[in-house]
Amino acid sequence: MLEQKQRGPIGQRIDVLRLLTADPDLSNAEVGRRLGLSRQRVMEMRREGGLPASQRTQRIGWHPCLRCGIQIPPKRKYCSRACQWDHIQLVCDECGKEFQRPRRMAARYEHHLCSQMCKGSWLKLIRRRKHLAANAFRRLKNLVGN
Ligand SMILES: [Zn+2]
Ligand SMILES: [Zn+2]
Repeated sequence: MLEQKQRGPIGQRIDVLRLLTADPDLSNAEVGRRLGLSRQRVMEMRREGGLPASQRTQRIGWHPCLRCGIQIPPKRKYCSRACQWDHIQLVCDECGKEFQRPRRMAARYEHHLCSQMCKGSWLKLIRRRKHLAANAFRRLKNLVGN
């Protein structure tokens, strides 16, 4: 079972949709059992992800998301806004919150912080913990995006 506590709702939905893409015939109860979610929650996530509410509903004309390949209904091009804008999902190094950044921007950094505030407190903590000299600290700052 995956660590749902750390995943957050968006991560959970990605897990649900991934599982259903790999095996569209899974029942909501089975998906819920594998991911540690309730059957109702799985049904909600199917809906949020643009999937029919259960495996019994027909999937005519479905095709893969242009970015990530998840099955989506006809007329839609992307499964989510993240895919549409080529944003990627990141987890804040400081507060653990999930947030999205354009892929190109995220690729520039090694550490990802969701806000100026998180960036500030994270840097302070790391500096104290590692006793970084001023120049090493400046180098570290360049690896941190927010
Ligand atoms: Zn997608
Ligand atoms: Zn944060």
